[in-house]
Amino acid sequence: MDTVIKNITLIDGTGREPIPDALLVIREGKVFYAGSASGWSDAEESDILELDLHGQYVLPGLIDCHVHLSGSGEADSQFYAPAGSMALKILKNAQRNLAAGITTVRDLGGWSELEFDVRRAIQRGEFPGPRMCLAGRFISITEAGAEYYLGMYRVADGVDEVRKAVREQVKNGADVIKMGVTGAVLVEGGVPGTTHFNEDEVCALVEEANKFGKRVAAHAHGIDGIRKAVQAGINTLEHGTYLYQDPLLITHMAGHGIFLVPTLKVGWDIIHAKDSNIPLWIMDKNKATQGEAALSLKMAHEADVPIAMGSDVGTPLNFHGENALEVYWMQQAGMSAMDALVSATGNAARSLGWDSWLGTLEKGKVADLIVHEKNPLEDLRLLADKTSLQFVMKDGMIAACHTEHHLPPQLFEKNYLSI
Ligand SMILES: [Zn+2]
Repeated sequence: MDTVIKNITLIDGTGREPIPDALLVIREGKVFYAGSASGWSDAEESDILELDLHGQYVLPGLIDCHVHLSGSGEADSQFYAPAGSMALKILKNAQRNLAAGITTVRDLGGWSELEFDVRRAIQRGEFPGPRMCLAGRFISITEAGAEYYLGMYRVADGVDEVRKAVREQVKNGADVIKMGVTGAVLVEGGVPGTTHFNEDEVCALVEEANKFGKRVAAHAHGIDGIRKAVQAGINTLEHGTYLYQDPLLITHMAGHGIFLVPTLKVGWDIIHAKDSNIPLWIMDKNKATQGEAALSLKMAHEADVPIAMGSDVGTPLNFHGENALEVYWMQQAGMSAMDALVSATGNAARSLGWDSWLGTLEKGKVADLIVHEKNPLEDLRLLADKTSLQFVMKDGMIAACHTEHHLPPQLFEKNYLSI
């Protein structure tokens, strides 16, 4: 049976202008047709289910390329929970993403490998949840963060240890390898500008990951660490706070298709926080780096560095389900509304290496989509507005919707979430 979604404005995630009076046909969980209603002929079809959306907006399900399912926005960034509670916390946070229209997440620092179990349970159909691209543990040198984020870090010093740490993540099922090349903002005593791994360690990590066909995501703030990571051939640069200091390196990233994942939302959430539970060291470090992070995004975008959206949800006051506000902050830093949206759809899928089947509403891609009552391009904050969001589809089935709805029961997953 085909599902024909008609009377929609289609924003397909490629960057193409929205198509008014459009129509989307889903066959076996995939997009079979997406375009203007006049271009579709259904003469051959008999078994169809029609859904008239009365002019609402249909977009690809959003992809968040930087989340921490093991964190729930704790003010002091302390994620710890005993294993059983942590597994439930990861599942709950994963579901908050899906119910908010984030149909795919890339977790760049899990907890004691529990996220792999949660993913298996979702894949078996036992629980609803988003697609998950997982890094497993955050590979780091010996430093304070390793004790603060017990369960998230894998300490590795020296080339041999680094290679072994990569192999462990691959063994556990990692899709991508995450490394901390510089100090962190959210580690007390961590200095974001400081380089952590040496050049030989960074190169060994990238080589080992690539050997297994895995991409590398590098956490880096300081320019020296960014340079080492970019020159070693990483795929995505996370944060990239001081990237603006080296325009030539920006050109190199553009030429080599290395993505920047800027993670601006967390800094703004902390700076605007009225919550006095935010430790002073977290507040001060964010105030010191936020302007530079926004400038780096602006310069990278202007130089045609590909940009992918990553909210870093899970970090202080940065709650799962509010991820899409990152798209708004990217616009505030100088991207057009459409470019910012593409960073959370088509470009995000490219940064994961999953773009042959995910990220846009084009023929042959999986039918992961969100339906909004209002046009998110007019105000990107609508992407995180649960009154505008009507329902979420994953693989062509409704995975989340409001309690009150008039949608055909045949279109629902057996366990669906309420928005
Ligand atoms: Zn992070």
